[in-house]
Amino acid sequence: MLISIRFHGRGGQGAVTASKLLAQTASEMGYYSQSMPFFGAERRGAPVISFTRISDEPIYEMSQVYHPNIVVVLDPVIMKVVDVFRGVKEGGWIVANTTKKPDEFVFGQEYLNIVAVDATGIAIKNDLLVAGMPVVNTPMLGALLRADIPLNIEVLEGIVARKFGKEGKKNVKAISEAYEFAEVKLIHGSGKRRYPKKQKIKVEFPISTPAEGVAGKTKLWRDFRPEINYDKCNDCLNCWLHCPESAIRLNDRVEIDYDYCKGCLVCAAVCPKKAITSEREVFADV
Ligand code: SF4
Ligand code: SF4
Repeated sequence: MLISIRFHGRGGQGAVTASKLLAQTASEMGYYSQSMPFFGAERRGAPVISFTRISDEPIYEMSQVYHPNIVVVLDPVIMKVVDVFRGVKEGGWIVANTTKKPDEFVFGQEYLNIVAVDATGIAIKNDLLVAGMPVVNTPMLGALLRADIPLNIEVLEGIVARKFGKEGKKNVKAISEAYEFAEVKLIHGSGKRRYPKKQKIKVEFPISTPAEGVAGKTKLWRDFRPEINYDKCNDCLNCWLHCPESAIRLNDRVEIDYDYCKGCLVCAAVCPKKAITSEREVFADV
């Protein structure tokens, strides 16, 4: 038995914590488990993915989960910008945070079983808010246990009660409410896979561009100036993805915006082709 779960959420909703809590529940029940996150731009609201594997044998796979049995979608809107169904196994499960009933929840993937739960509503009702944002991870875990997964809700609740201290009670209540009120639609083997396996999906993210703040442009922080060697660059976009200032623009190729580059050299560190070198920055007017 190997069950792979992929969580999709936004920064601040607790997807990474949910994936860890699930792995810990499995571990306490005597299974082998692992949990790992994948961050893009690590900021509140940005898309976040996290993975959990559960097995009754040692797990040697350490990669991201590309073919999950279960996909957990913490944010109803994220399906519009991220292909959450990519690689899901036929006969697998989607556990969705939605106000819709499973029958109304039309998403074109009729080869999947559905668990539908209004986790946002349950989080608001139980005052699971951080800085005004509903944290839906624990109710989503309650709903997830309605899918085909051999974990026990009492074990999960015990872990959450221990881990969350004063907030534990509210989270345990949210788990049990979600478990109780989640609606399940089983469609094993009833439909043909509509998702064309070889279709290339264009994923579009909202991208913010840097702007001048009260302390001026971030270029003034720069001790080192990164330079891209386009003879080595293979357009992998790693630097663009990891730049914390969004100072790498995507035109026909990656280009550094030296008005906002702060010289942290994260781009150079993540470049697999060693295509970014750096030199001491000397500003003529300083
Ligand atoms: S050094 Fe690289 S990663 Fe850092 S701000 Fe400049 S372009 Fe972005
Ligand atoms: S990380 Fe390196 S190889 Fe990849 S796009 Fe940036 S400069 Fe090019």
